[in-house]
Amino acid sequence: MSATASNAATPAAADLVFRQARLADGAPLMDVAIAQGRIADVAPKLECRGTTEIEAAGRVLIPGLIESHLHLEKAFVMDRKPNRSGTLMEAIAVTASLKPTFTREDIETRSRRVLRQLVGFGSTHVRAHAEFDPAQGFTGFDTVLDLRREFAGVIDIQVVAFPQEGILKTPGTDAMMVEAIKKGADVVGGIPYNDTDAREHIDWVFKLARDFDKDLDFHQDFRDDADAMSIEYLARKTIESKYQGRVSVGHLTALGAATPQRRNEIIALLRDAGISVMCLPATDLHLGGRKDETNVRRTLAPVRALRDGGVNVCLATNNICNAFTPYGNGDLLQIAALALPACHLGGADDQATVLPMLTTNPARALRLPNYGLAVGRDADMVLLDTLKVSDAIIDLPARNVVVKRGRIVARTERRVEYAF
Ligand SMILES: [Zn+2]
Repeated sequence: MSATASNAATPAAADLVFRQARLADGAPLMDVAIAQGRIADVAPKLECRGTTEIEAAGRVLIPGLIESHLHLEKAFVMDRKPNRSGTLMEAIAVTASLKPTFTREDIETRSRRVLRQLVGFGSTHVRAHAEFDPAQGFTGFDTVLDLRREFAGVIDIQVVAFPQEGILKTPGTDAMMVEAIKKGADVVGGIPYNDTDAREHIDWVFKLARDFDKDLDFHQDFRDDADAMSIEYLARKTIESKYQGRVSVGHLTALGAATPQRRNEIIALLRDAGISVMCLPATDLHLGGRKDETNVRRTLAPVRALRDGGVNVCLATNNICNAFTPYGNGDLLQIAALALPACHLGGADDQATVLPMLTTNPARALRLPNYGLAVGRDADMVLLDTLKVSDAIIDLPARNVVVKRGRIVARTERRVEYAF
């Protein structure tokens, strides 16, 4: 997090001013002035007056949280058909059978609930994987596109055209992918592990992305073992296509099962390819390791090794209350709190690297140039009810004030009355 010093063009009046907020531990408290949706000034003491003034009184102010991998349209359906085995295979089967029953109104209601909860918990951006296939058509995808418009100014939604049921093995999906981009998808999605030929799948979506000059986001190597990974091929394809910095992958759990040598080779390749990795602990801990009888594995992307190897790593929610993840509420700080022990990120030197996995790292993955708490950037921020940045995750603080483009979009106050 960086703050630029007070500049000469300080406005006499601002729309909103935070007084004495904690932007960084060990640095002076700051006033933050917001005008016309942007951060107008940041300094220890600002003379300008805000139409709205908020006394932060030392509470922590962070840039908006970024939910970098989420499925809106299949959230909150757990009660309709359960996944009894808890395996990925049954999760895909259960959800595939439910999807054709989703009506537009049903998807709207559940997706709006997710988006409202995200905003309440401080997310100002979300990348939504919106799926379609010949069985369900575009009902879910079109609804997510409409919600992107409906929620403009509240939360920015990047829409990924996501072929959950595969492309090669599900005839008709290829034409739907092209149509999805023409309808307005921001990003081309892929799922090589759920198709007949992973390399052919990767080649196909790369061609589509290049034809339309779109970024790519894959569901990648979601397995407990390292036997059938296509990540090396994907990374080389990224470099060969000059797509460095434009490709993200979610899950990548198989990499956690690779030998240290192979893992490190792949991590170097990912760094060179500028591929971002979204670790999805809530889903991957639930579905992974189901055949282990003792010492059940964590089956997560190796977050520490990726981070130390210079790869851009993010933490994300993926699913909320469905066959893939039968719990969750869209609170990214809870996801991070889960990742602390699960990814061995609780050490004194590690904890400070975790909050960026919800903020600046996903901003880089989603390529948001106006992101961050600095003068001139978009005024997307969250006031946390805690006094140290280093406590932002372990406190699970209330998100007191959530600001999107300079406007307060949510407030939360938590009050306990002790009766002893
Ligand atoms: Zn996903």
